Amino acid sequence: MPFDFSMNVSIDSPVTRLRGVGPKMAEKLSQLGIEQVHDLLFHLPLRYQDRTRITPIGALQSGSDAVVEGEIRAADVTFGRRRSLVCRLQDGTGTLTLRFFHFSAAQKNSLAPGTQLRCYGEVRRGASGLELYHPEYRQLSESQTHPVEECLTPIYPSTAGVSQSVWRKLCTQALAVLSGSSLPELLPGRAGNGTGLVQALNYLHAPPPDAPQELIRQGRHPAQLRLVLEELVAHNLSLEKLRRQQRSLGAPDMRAGQNATADFIKTLAFRLTGAQERVIAEIAADLGSGLPMLRLVQGDVGSGKTVVAACAALQAIRSGYQVAIMAPTEILAEQHWQGFQQWFEPLGSPMAWLTGRLKGKARRQTLQQLAAGDAALAVGTHALFQEEVSFARLGLVIVDEQQRFGVHQRLSLSDKASGRHGRPHQLVMTATTIPRTLAMVAYADLDCSVIDELPPGRRPVQTVLIDSERRQQVVQRVQAACDQGRQAYWVCTLIEESDALQRQAAEATCEELQQLLPQLHIGLVHGRMKAVEKAAVMAQFKSGEIQVLVATTVIEVGVDVANASLMIIENPERLGLAQLHQLRGRIGRGSTASHCVLLYQSPLGEHSKARLTTMRESSDGFYIAERDLELRGPGEVLGTRQTGLMEFRLADIQLHGDLLPEVQRIAQHLVDSDPARVDQLIRRWLGSAERFASV
Ligand code: ADP
Ligand code: MG
Repeated sequence: MPFDFSMNVSIDSPVTRLRGVGPKMAEKLSQLGIEQVHDLLFHLPLRYQDRTRITPIGALQSGSDAVVEGEIRAADVTFGRRRSLVCRLQDGTGTLTLRFFHFSAAQKNSLAPGTQLRCYGEVRRGASGLELYHPEYRQLSESQTHPVEECLTPIYPSTAGVSQSVWRKLCTQALAVLSGSSLPELLPGRAGNGTGLVQALNYLHAPPPDAPQELIRQGRHPAQLRLVLEELVAHNLSLEKLRRQQRSLGAPDMRAGQNATADFIKTLAFRLTGAQERVIAEIAADLGSGLPMLRLVQGDVGSGKTVVAACAALQAIRSGYQVAIMAPTEILAEQHWQGFQQWFEPLGSPMAWLTGRLKGKARRQTLQQLAAGDAALAVGTHALFQEEVSFARLGLVIVDEQQRFGVHQRLSLSDKASGRHGRPHQLVMTATTIPRTLAMVAYADLDCSVIDELPPGRRPVQTVLIDSERRQQVVQRVQAACDQGRQAYWVCTLIEESDALQRQAAEATCEELQQLLPQLHIGLVHGRMKAVEKAAVMAQFKSGEIQVLVATTVIEVGVDVANASLMIIENPERLGLAQLHQLRGRIGRGSTASHCVLLYQSPLGEHSKARLTTMRESSDGFYIAERDLELRGPGEVLGTRQTGLMEFRLADIQLHGDLLPEVQRIAQHLVDSDPARVDQLIRRWLGSAERFASV
C-alpha cells in the first residue's frame, strides 16, 4: 500500500503520525528510544530472511531457510513420541515433510490433500528426509498470482508486543517518508567508502534479492560499514563530550604536594620500575594541571599499581585534599587499608575505613570524620559512594580494578566533591589488560597509562592442566610445597553465582583436604564470611600460620602473599580467561618459581580446551585479554555492568576494530570544525540514551 504523503509527515515528526501507532504502541517504541520517524530509520535489522525466490524441493539443503511451493499429497496425524500433524508436500522435483506439533482441527482441515501451499521455514533433516517444522504457510489459489517478496525480509530487534510485521510496516512507512524528505549527511565529505547515508539506510532496511548475504552476515557490507562508522563516531563523540563537560568544571590544583612523593619513594623497600616511574610522573602532571584527571592505569597483575596509587594519594593529601580509594571486594579493601596504613601512618595522615559492614557508632564516627575533613584518606568498598557519605574536600578518587564497577558508580563517587574545588581527579586502575580496540571505545573518555613492566626477579607462573581424576597427586603436591616452607591456594569455583553454594563447595573441600593433609594448617575464606573473620584468616595466611588457603573466587583480585607459590584452581573451565589470569596472579609474587594447577573436569569441550591451553601457553595479560575478547566478546570481557556502554546498534568491536583509527580522525575533525554536528550525531545514534553525559 503506497504511503499517503497528504499526511505531511516529516522525518522529525513523532511516530504517532504514522499509521498503526497509537498511544500504546508509541509507549512501547519509546522504551526503545524511538520517538520520531527518523529514530525508526536507525532501528536497523538484526538479520534477514530470503523470501524472494521459490526453491525447488529437490534443491533444498538442510540448515537453510527457504520458500517452497507444492501440493499436499497426504496429511496424517501421527502418534510417535509426540502427536503431530505430518503433511507431504510435493512439487515437480521432490517431496518434503511439513511437521506440526501444535495444530487445531481447522488447521488440519485446511491442509487437506490437493491443497496448493507456499511455505517458509528452516529445512532440517528429520526421520523422513527433509522436513520443515511449523513452517509459515499460505494457501495458493489458482485464480490469483502470488508474487514473492521483492527484497530480503528484515528481522528487527524487538520488544514484547511489537511483532515483526509491525516493525516492517513502520519501517516501510519511515523509508517512504525518507524518500520525500532529506536526511542530513553528518559525516564530512565522502567518509568511509563513499556510500551515502540515505542509500545505506534504504539498502539495509530492504536489501535487494541479489544482496551478498554472506557479506552482510559478516557485517562487512559497504552499507553496513558506512553506518557502523557513523555509529562509532557518534559514540566516540558522546564520550568526548562527557570528558569535556568534566574538564570544564576545573579541578583542585595539586602542585603543592608534588615533592612529598619523591620523599615517600625513598622510604620504599624496593626500587620503582621504569614503567611505574613514568606513570607516576604522568599522574603528577595531571594533578598539577588544574583540569580534572581522567586516567586509566592498566597494568598486569603484580605490576605494582598500588604504589602508583599511593604516590597519587600522597600528592593529593599534601596538597590539602581528601582521597577516596575504592576496591571491589572487602578483602581487597582490607588489603589496601593495611598497606596504606603501613605507608602513610608514619607520615601522620589520618585514615578512615568504610565498608557496608561497618555499623552503628563506628560508622557514624567515620562518616563524621570524612564530612569534617578530619580523615585525609578513605579506603573502602562501594559503600563509599552511598548517599550518606560526604567529604569536606574530596580531591582525588581512586578506583581499583575498575572492571568491576560501572561508569555510573565511578562518576557518582566523583560527584561527592563539593563544587568549590571543581571536579575531583579520577584515577582508575585495572589489571584486565583491555585490548586497545576495546579501550578506545569503552574508555574514550579516559587517558590511558600502561605499566608494561613487572618488578625484576619475578618468574612467570608455570601452568599445568591436570584431569581431576588425578586429584590425589595434586594433593600430594600441596604437601610437598608446604614441606618446603611454601604456601598454597586451593580455589573452588562454581558456575552458580550463589554465595551459599560456593561456600558449601569450599567448606567441603576444606574438610577433605584437612583429612588428607592432617599435619597442615588449612584455612577457609569465602564471600559469606564476616569482614573481620575474612581479615583474620587472611592475616593468618599472610603470617604463614595458615599454610593452605581454601578460597572461593573472592581472592580473585589484589590479594598479595609473596610466599604462596602454588595455586590449584578447580573447574577452571567454568571461568573466563581474564578471571583465571587474575586468580593466577595471586602467585608468582615472590622470587621462587610458582606453579598453577588447572584441575579440570574431563571431558573438555573444544572451546574449553582452547581457553585452558591459552592459559598454559601465556602469562601475558594482554595476549590473554585479546584471546578472551575473541572467545567471549566485549560484554563479558568488561564485566556485565559495563555492557551498557557497549550497546551498539550495528557496530561490533571485534568485526569493526579496523575502523577505529578513521573513527577517531573523523570525531576529532568534527569537534574542531563543526560542534553543531557533534550534537546532531549524538542525538541521532544515542538519542535519549545519551545517559552518560548527564550523570
Ligand atoms: P598489582 O598491580 O597487581 O596491584 P601490587 O601493587 O599489589 O600489584 O604489587 C604486587 C607486589 O609487588 C606488592 O607486594 C608490591 O609491594 C610489590 N612491588 C611493587 N612495585 C615493586 C617494585 N618496583 N619492585 C619490587 N616489588 C614491587
Ligand atoms: Mg592491585
